[in-house]
Amino acid sequence: MGWIDNTARTFLWTELIKGMSVTLRYMFKQPVTLNYPYEKGVLSPRFRGEHALRRYPNGEERCIACKLCEAICPAQAITIEAAPRDDGSRRTTRYDIDMTKCIYCGYCEEACPVDAIVEGPNFEYSTETREELFYNKAKLLANGDRWETEIAARLRADAPYR
Ligand code: SF4
Ligand code: SF4
Repeated sequence: MGWIDNTARTFLWTELIKGMSVTLRYMFKQPVTLNYPYEKGVLSPRFRGEHALRRYPNGEERCIACKLCEAICPAQAITIEAAPRDDGSRRTTRYDIDMTKCIYCGYCEEACPVDAIVEGPNFEYSTETREELFYNKAKLLANGDRWETEIAARLRADAPYR
């Protein structure tokens, strides 16, 4: 090290010690990174993930085919067709969401008077084909059945702020 003078040598040692002290300090701290997908972060109750259509506890569809969600959707991603049932109640015969158009604004959920269409907590629904992102009523109801416990808890947690 004959080619550097004492000032430079002192500087290098100081920087080395500073760097090592940072390393040692963080070595014993809780890591901030998550080992995804085995570990997942906490989601806000307002997280807007994959869409789902919910049912009442007796199995009846919540959706009353008012089409407010279809009207408010800024991406025009929702397509609904409806017809009256034999008992006079009005239900959808078609409920599609083109997930390739959806911008996850949450307006459909906000507009729904019966908490039927919601954006649930699921964010792991990537697909290999575009067609798989054209959701129909059966797919949306299946999502609702699968995630109902989490969706209901999320709505309960958020209710005091609405
Ligand atoms: S989240 Fe927004 S863009 Fe997506 S379907 Fe609902 S209203 Fe449309
Ligand atoms: S999901 Fe809600 S807003 Fe949309 S048609 Fe059904 S009841 Fe109306």
